[in-house]
Amino acid sequence: MHRPRILLIYTGGTIGMVKNFETGALKVFNFSKLLQRIPELRQLDCDIETMSFEKPIDSSDMDPAKWEKMARIVADNYNDFDGFVILHGSDTMSYSASALSFMLHGLKKPVVFTGSQLPIGDLRTDAKENLITAIQIASLHHDGQPIVREVSLYFEYKLYRGNRTTKISAEHFNAFTSPNYPALAESGVHLRVHKEQLLPLNGEEFELRSGFDGNVAIVKMFPGITAQVLRAITAIEGLRGIVLETYGSGNAPSAEWFIGILQKAIESGVHVVNVTQCSGGRVNMGQYETSTLLKEIGVISGADITTEAAITKMMYLLGMQVPAHRFKLLFEAPVCGELTQ
Ligand code: ASP
Repeated sequence: MHRPRILLIYTGGTIGMVKNFETGALKVFNFSKLLQRIPELRQLDCDIETMSFEKPIDSSDMDPAKWEKMARIVADNYNDFDGFVILHGSDTMSYSASALSFMLHGLKKPVVFTGSQLPIGDLRTDAKENLITAIQIASLHHDGQPIVREVSLYFEYKLYRGNRTTKISAEHFNAFTSPNYPALAESGVHLRVHKEQLLPLNGEEFELRSGFDGNVAIVKMFPGITAQVLRAITAIEGLRGIVLETYGSGNAPSAEWFIGILQKAIESGVHVVNVTQCSGGRVNMGQYETSTLLKEIGVISGADITTEAAITKMMYLLGMQVPAHRFKLLFEAPVCGELTQ
């Protein structure tokens, strides 16, 4: 009987913190003592090894170089482990899970992100359940093959596709949602995997694709946005892409100055992707007159992608040096389940 080997990677965040009960200060937990601190983990039907960022970070300090570091740990250990659990601060976890879904091309093993709202050393912590179930999911297998073969995010009883998630609460244990794609698995009395929602087996060879291009910006629409603001952003030297967070089903001001500035940016080679600032639903350019103009000037449709996945996909495609004339086509097609066309 195959006993899965799981690599647990601690990058930082609340999940790895314990409180010094005398001073009240939080400090990083020693992950090499994980099994001593959480003896329940011994009951799991897998072998766990741990690894930690030398300097664990608050996830607000996350950046593309650290995504690469994380992805490289997975790639370097890919053949030696059956699954990976990445412990990460919740604040930017959806960005990291999206970034790694693009970087780990042709992935055929589970990479499960998790974290917690309360430190692992807290009496009322949500960390233990998140950690234990994430490890259990990473070790699920059938006939020696992993069941979940994609980058996912487990939090408060639900497993989601990582690049479909967004953080919705700084208070509740239920901190994440996946507005446009159903959960991949749910943990109740039983751990139920919704197999029909999982990514199908990818026939491509596993490879690490790194080298994200950070010359991008997110512009969120608000009534009253001025020409000066939009002009200043589109004039940023070296800018190669903008994720435009529009209203509703992809609508933006129809004013001549607004369309004119965007058109000029697109003509100068800046890729503009339209995503909705609603928490659910999709962009449908052409449904209203206010979005027809965007379509006409060559704005790319983000369909039902999240902003987190849109900005990381943009950095990924720009980093891959895809030819400018193919960028729209490649962005509008799913790479690893991040959007539905
Ligand atoms: N600020 C923390 C972080 O994202 C919150 C958490 O750990 O969930 O690193």
